Amino acid sequence: MLKLDRVSKYFKTGTFGGDLLPAVKQVSFEIGSGEVVSLIGESGSGKSTLGKMILRLIDISSGSIYFEGRDISGIKGRALRDYYRKVQGVFQDPFSSYNPIFRADRVLEMLRKNYFADLSDADWNRKVYSSLEAVGLNPADVLNKFTHQLSGGQLQRILIARALLMDIRLLVADEIISMLDASTRVDVLNLLAQLKAKGLGVLFITHDLSLGNYISEKAVILRRGVVLEMGATEKIFGNPQHSYTRSLLAAVPQLHKKWEVMGDEEKAEVASAHRSPEGAAALARGNGGGQSRTGVAEARQSPHLPWARRSRHGDHVLVEEEAERKAKRDTYLRTHEPVPELVMVEEDHWVALEAAA
Ligand code: ADP
Ligand code: MG
Repeated sequence: MLKLDRVSKYFKTGTFGGDLLPAVKQVSFEIGSGEVVSLIGESGSGKSTLGKMILRLIDISSGSIYFEGRDISGIKGRALRDYYRKVQGVFQDPFSSYNPIFRADRVLEMLRKNYFADLSDADWNRKVYSSLEAVGLNPADVLNKFTHQLSGGQLQRILIARALLMDIRLLVADEIISMLDASTRVDVLNLLAQLKAKGLGVLFITHDLSLGNYISEKAVILRRGVVLEMGATEKIFGNPQHSYTRSLLAAVPQLHKKWEVMGDEEKAEVASAHRSPEGAAALARGNGGGQSRTGVAEARQSPHLPWARRSRHGDHVLVEEEAERKAKRDTYLRTHEPVPELVMVEEDHWVALEAAA
């Protein structure tokens, strides 16, 4: 359905825009209908840039993005509007997406003018009600409320409902559960699982190897704009090949079951464990599974996630200096590191060749 073919994005930076920052380098992957693909990488790895290129919010520097066989990179006007009938995005922080003086109805109403101008009020209301109900909201509870009167979970679901007004085929979900508490995460994931069962494709963007993996068929691991490993989620989580993937997996509970087969209690437990590194470690030690898998136990001993240091309390100066150093090194490596070659290690499992240590 959606196919990325060696997609790159270079941002102009520096005072006169003379420098080019490669945010995304030659990324290729596909999303089929009813397929959830997790796009995983630490902050700054280029995930949102990819999502924005798919949503045509920013231009592609090189490469192509095909949707249902058609290259969408240059489409404009009517063709772009038609594209947005099928492809929509929902972003990270539901609290910042909308002006607090907006009522929830307005968030939905904004689409009406562009896409449903010819619908009668009655038909429009019916449509709004059914899409709110489809995301598990009671329309009477949420319509007429200001966005600040709604919970994070309600807002996130309104944004999904808004996307669903369009009868979409693909949803780009950028960090949509990072801000939510454990029980709300469970609700949103259940909703995504239902939508997927109805044939919706989802690009599930996440920085923390979070719950999305439990509902995804495929995973793509991104670092500094390049894909380091990708393929079937259970292969990547069960048998990670790249040292970076292994270090990521070291600090989080392992995928051992699909979301759809977990019971409610198990979902809640997994959801809350993913909130904190401690909870994650506890789950990994307990029934989280994965201990016996090659590579995982060994990787778990690696000291920390590359970006975990930033979330440590105290010693802010050191953390800031370190962040600055990291950013400089990051920019340098982004610019100079070649795009690694991906090799197939087994069916549906690709890994970037690593330079010999
Ligand atoms: P992620 O979503 O994975 O955290 P982003 O895609 O937002 O990462 O950013 C990838 C890189 O591109 C970062 O180094 C970021 O600073 C840079 N970047 C993102 N947007 C812009 C922009 N509009 N102009 C310049 N640099 C940008
Ligand atoms: Mg982002």
